[in-house]
Amino acid sequence: MDLLGHDVPAPLLKVRGRNQPEAWRIADRTYPFRCCAVCGLQMVACLQVAHLDHDAANNEPSNLAHLCPTHHGMYDAGLYPVEGIRLLQAHWQITQGVANHALRMKDAGPKAVRTRKRNAAARKAAATRHQKAARSQAEGSTSA
Ligand SMILES: [Zn+2]
Repeated sequence: MDLLGHDVPAPLLKVRGRNQPEAWRIADRTYPFRCCAVCGLQMVACLQVAHLDHDAANNEPSNLAHLCPTHHGMYDAGLYPVEGIRLLQAHWQITQGVANHALRMKDAGPKAVRTRKRNAAARKAAATRHQKAARSQAEGSTSA
């Protein structure tokens, strides 16, 4: 029950121990690259600090994550697993938001060589066809 005598759902009672400035300090110190753990939004003014166990009094570093309002709401609605948030959060700290195209480009060199060889062979074949056509046309015009 709250001060007015209303029945309050259990999770809201935990808000009593909330210390959001401390949660921000701990989250910022633990996760210096500040972005939404789900989408990577880096607009710090838009970010919120989420308590992953939904206990607002628990400011353990592993219980905190920067999330944008959209993904905070979706996390609180149970649409993301806590393991996923933690995994993505660690990923953002490692990548610092810089995309790595190395895996996507790993076969780019050999593929480009194959394409160049195929194009050169096609050009040579077209030139040969044109030469044969010109030659047979020339033979046909001299014999007629
Ligand atoms: Zn987001």
